[in-house]
Amino acid sequence: METIDRLLANNRAFADSVPDRHLDVRPSKRLAIVTCMDSRLDVFAALGLGDGEAHVLRNAGGVITDDVIRSLAVSQRRLGTEEVMLIHHTDCGMQTLTDDGFRAELQEATGVAPAFAIESFDDVDADVRQSILRVRRSKFVPHRDRVRGFVYDVDSHRLREIQVEDEG
Ligand SMILES: [Zn+2]
Repeated sequence: METIDRLLANNRAFADSVPDRHLDVRPSKRLAIVTCMDSRLDVFAALGLGDGEAHVLRNAGGVITDDVIRSLAVSQRRLGTEEVMLIHHTDCGMQTLTDDGFRAELQEATGVAPAFAIESFDDVDADVRQSILRVRRSKFVPHRDRVRGFVYDVDSHRLREIQVEDEG
């Protein structure tokens, strides 16, 4: 059986095992989290979050792209969130490639150079700082005073906060 077919069976069992309920579309903890797509980071379990409590935006690297800013703008302006938590992690797949190398690989494979930035990084702490500053500098995101960044250790499950000087 395909993996997705197995997951559909899991979903039927899950839906049978929990009562129906309706939660507000606005996250109750007024929090948005931006993190990597990494399969080892269970955001809800690692942070003790439940359904309906926070938005979770994920992409390769947990990068602050225009699309993440779009989602944060909707999250804050329409759905009531006010805090932003950024979580990068150790042993990230984005540390295994370079912008130039991956761009060349895509172009060679397809004949087309991608329009998007690759956004690879070597230094995870520096990338968290960069991400914090990108959010803090976006006027599309109205609440920028509580933006904090962390590195999650995929082996120990611990978060380490990254400080960034507030350059105003
Ligand atoms: Zn990652």
